[in-house]
Amino acid sequence: METCAFCQKRRSLEESHIIPKAVGRAAKRRLLEEHPTFVTTSGERNVQDIDKLDLLCRECERLHAELGDDPFLRYLFHPFFGQPVGLSAQENSERLAFIKYGEWLRRFAASVSWRVIAAASKRGELSDEFGPADLRRIGRAKQVWKQYLNGRRDDVGPFHHYALPLHVVFEWELLDVQPSSYLNRFLGLSFHTAVKRVAGTLCTYVKMPRFIFIGKIHPTSATAIDVCPRIHADGTLRLDGWHTLPEALLRYLNEQAEWHSQAHDNPPEYFREKSKANAQRVLRKRTRDEIFDSDEIRLFAMDEELQRNWTKASPLGLQSASGSDQ
Ligand SMILES: [Zn+2]
Repeated sequence: METCAFCQKRRSLEESHIIPKAVGRAAKRRLLEEHPTFVTTSGERNVQDIDKLDLLCRECERLHAELGDDPFLRYLFHPFFGQPVGLSAQENSERLAFIKYGEWLRRFAASVSWRVIAAASKRGELSDEFGPADLRRIGRAKQVWKQYLNGRRDDVGPFHHYALPLHVVFEWELLDVQPSSYLNRFLGLSFHTAVKRVAGTLCTYVKMPRFIFIGKIHPTSATAIDVCPRIHADGTLRLDGWHTLPEALLRYLNEQAEWHSQAHDNPPEYFREKSKANAQRVLRKRTRDEIFDSDEIRLFAMDEELQRNWTKASPLGLQSASGSDQ
């Protein structure tokens, strides 16, 4: 028996997923099918091992899953992740028109953000990285999100959430930093969670294939993060054309991409054998056209293009889910 991080009751705990189980399962199915060589958060683990730990009791696990997993999968995750990258403007607007916004989006964002703090706190990662003032702020945001999630308040106070559909970075200008040769593949395929100070803002950060969710902790006044699309009280998300990302966030994404690139290029021995077998199995099943049309090949080509063009002076931008064809 242990204490459940959400209801605080002594119960036997479930192995909880930081990224919701249903999202992890859906992504895993597709990633294993299409990207047999893909390695995720740690070079020691493959994509089947999405970060999890004993955190919640069965009841709270179910409560969190019911907050927004289904509509997130139906309206955002599958329509974007389940389609090839590099959609045309027309295809993008069709997908955006399909989204039925509602409070589920804010609940989903609050739930994953709360889980990131609860997990990092249980593992003792927070106290290594932050001083007393930041720990108090993180504790306060966690408390407010929890009160919102169990219905004791109907807003998230000053701790807003942001959601960014990560389409594809085509253009990149970061003074002295070359984009990782793995950037688009990282944005398109990988998982990563953290409590971090990004772009001068202490926040929770949840990266999944094609999406990032950010929970703002401090300062609660406007910061560089506010150029990202914010989830409004009614659960809507205003996505219009291109959105810019704070340079510091792009830098952070780039570092993560580079790290993943190294993990991908140097997999542990057991995984090398396994991924070779997976790759052969997938290749046998597919026609030549299917292989060339796969996400992995498309994303690889986009990374090549990014590498070729990065020195050109171009606006710092990310093509949003509603983006244009430029
Ligand atoms: Zn519980």
